[in-house]
Amino acid sequence: MRILVIDTGSSSVKFSVYDIPAGTECFASEIERATSIEDALALVPAALVKADMQSFDAVGHRVAHGGERFVQATKIDDAVIAGIEACSSLAPLHNPPALAGIAMTRKAWGNLPQVVVFDTAFHHAMPARAITYAVPEAWRQASVRRYGFHGPSHQYIMERVADELGTAATQLRIVSCHLGNGASVCAIDRGQSVDTSMGLTALEGLVMGTRSGDIDPGLFGYLNRTLGLSIADIEAALYRKSGLAGLSGIGNDVRDIEAQAAQGNKDAALALDVFCYRIRKYIGAYAAAMGGLDVLAFTGGIGEHSANVRSRVCTGFEYLGLLFDEEHNAKVKLSGFEAPQLQQVASRVKVLVTQTREQWMIARQTYALLKKE
Ligand code: ADP
Repeated sequence: MRILVIDTGSSSVKFSVYDIPAGTECFASEIERATSIEDALALVPAALVKADMQSFDAVGHRVAHGGERFVQATKIDDAVIAGIEACSSLAPLHNPPALAGIAMTRKAWGNLPQVVVFDTAFHHAMPARAITYAVPEAWRQASVRRYGFHGPSHQYIMERVADELGTAATQLRIVSCHLGNGASVCAIDRGQSVDTSMGLTALEGLVMGTRSGDIDPGLFGYLNRTLGLSIADIEAALYRKSGLAGLSGIGNDVRDIEAQAAQGNKDAALALDVFCYRIRKYIGAYAAAMGGLDVLAFTGGIGEHSANVRSRVCTGFEYLGLLFDEEHNAKVKLSGFEAPQLQQVASRVKVLVTQTREQWMIARQTYALLKKE
């Protein structure tokens, strides 16, 4: 079955065609920097024709937030679209573009089955102690709880790690570190996501490209009283002016920040320090949550490419049984979907790095759902 996968982000559309179950990627492209997301989406059908990729059997969409209602991949109909719209207030930057993508493909290929795969779904069975914020009941009634994101990536990492090690995921305690512009850590305890660093929204947790990650919620009142900032001002700055960019003052690209830090730029050095320290805190916390750690896995642009970040994150975990091999780490060059191991022979904890395959997971989940029908 040929599946078109559409991943509509806030500023770009990634689209690809897979042959499943063979697993072959037939085509992949991305449209960036269009005047609007609708304009970018309008270019997709012609790009597929130009690549001679107009023949496929189904469409799979990535949607960030499924709220409490969507806990697995779901076939699209009008009621499902209304349900995704209802979750938009939980993901105002991400769900509306995905809905625009769905509207485009329904218009262009309305006769084909269409499926949505939610970023939140992999985490849907996290225990109550991990998803519950200690806030008033009325807020919890209004869907305020932790959901988690990057589900297709963390699930892929779990499967790839299990495959590489030749050990069932149900026998492994994995901490998966997805370090891209958006970043999250996930505790995967014997095949099940039991905690993850993003929460109600994709703002909680790690320091990200431009997002703050964890902060003291008391800063809303404090900044309002002292600087007169509104909730909207503060929220916008936490999403767009914080994180690595806010700390370094030189943007969100770790390549630039590492280069500047190496030349003695103190802000760049602090940005990397805070970034790596936050990741290490989560790894320690998740080892505690799972009663130990068998595998630490890295993915996402930073996890895949920055030997420096991997080294800083992994150093000092000898007490957990993790002995890191700097030589293996320095040699990593991912050209395909290999998953090299970066631990010393005597290390009890395995450390793997691999390229994530979110769109491929969306194609597979779309196929699995349609095959059941
Ligand atoms: P997104 O979350 O937007 O999909 P990616 O997973 O592609 O992001 O990660 C993008 C980030 O990866 C860049 O902002 C950059 O910081 C980092 N990155 C890419 N290549 C390198 C590299 N060679 N060294 C360090 N960081 C890198």
